[in-house]
Amino acid sequence: MSEKKLKFNSKTIHGGQQPDKAYGAVMPPIYQTSTYAQTTPGGHQGYEYSRSANPTRTALENSLASIENGKYGLAFASGLAAIDAVIKLLNPGDEVVSTNDLYGGSYRLFKQVFEKFGIKFQFIGMQNAAKIEDYITNKTRLIWVETPTNPMMNVIDIKLVSAMAKKHKILLAVDNTFATPYLQIPLDLGADIVMHSATKYLGGHSDVVVGALVVNDKDLADKLYFIQNASGAVCGPMDSFLTLRGIKTLHVRMQRHCENGRAIAEYLANHPKIEKVYWPGFEDHPNHDIAKSQMSDFGGMISFIPKGSSYENAIKIVEKLQVFTLAESLGGVESLAGHPASMTHASIPKEEREKSGVVDSLIRLSVGIEDADDLIDDLNQAIG
Ligand SMILES: *Cc1c(COP(=O)(O)O)cnc(C)c1O
Repeated sequence: MSEKKLKFNSKTIHGGQQPDKAYGAVMPPIYQTSTYAQTTPGGHQGYEYSRSANPTRTALENSLASIENGKYGLAFASGLAAIDAVIKLLNPGDEVVSTNDLYGGSYRLFKQVFEKFGIKFQFIGMQNAAKIEDYITNKTRLIWVETPTNPMMNVIDIKLVSAMAKKHKILLAVDNTFATPYLQIPLDLGADIVMHSATKYLGGHSDVVVGALVVNDKDLADKLYFIQNASGAVCGPMDSFLTLRGIKTLHVRMQRHCENGRAIAEYLANHPKIEKVYWPGFEDHPNHDIAKSQMSDFGGMISFIPKGSSYENAIKIVEKLQVFTLAESLGGVESLAGHPASMTHASIPKEEREKSGVVDSLIRLSVGIEDADDLIDDLNQAIG
């Protein structure tokens, strides 16, 4: 059966995969090698040096392309290395319009690394897509979207932003780390580039740091491949293998993340000591309709603010959790809790942070795939 016809839940397992050519190994071997024997100068079987290409990484890159409905996949040493490669498509003087409540490390990369090379970044709320047009100039080359946003769970209409990007001939890149292709396929909604921190849901077991890009356009793929090879932040063979193994269960994990996410979001919303819960599955979430139309479910990422809460109280709650681990990161099988203001978003100045709602008492949960009852009991004892 042609692979194009496979449904998502089969593509995670078979997409872009063939038994290994040497012995028919069903899982691609970990080709832990830097170089490849040549019969004559230039006489090789497609691999000459592992920065340029490695068979285990190729297997992962083909899988990434398949699950995101794209033609070309690229795997990097981290999510930030993947973002770094996208920004290196630009030139001094170029401008980027980005979502405002985005991953702290992306903000730091944009502001503290690339701005000094003359690239200008604007950070705006994109829930009202029409507003983006006010920030587009004849120098704008890229729109950078994260949806749902981190940690405020705003949802941005990818189709609308894409229509605007196309009208102005600007590239649209979507960081799909939170949703994963199980919930939304940005390329199908008109994005040019989809980016992942595969460290999170794609890997899914908190055991690798990996990044990914997927595109459909050959010219764009060539440019990104050139940067990947020239800059060199590639995904190693062992990490490629682990990420590929993770992707094979993405759909079953995501199904449980979504079920548990709903149970916890509803529990928190009904708790007398909780002020506010941010989760796009609630009907009164300001972007619920967009979420419903572009996502197939609502995921396991939830943020909340305890009532009358202070910095100290939020810290006390996250310290008391026992089944949830207090840690950076998200998307693994185990549940994690984080305090964005002092952890993931500490690199964003306080005024910038608070403008987008990341107050000192905000707590973020990455709901894992444990038994939901245990997770609720844990939150109950911590909230008190
Ligand atoms: C973690 C994360 C990144 C950065 O990825 P790394 O793999 O940590 O380099 C980028 N975007 C989002 C949404 C993330 O959660």
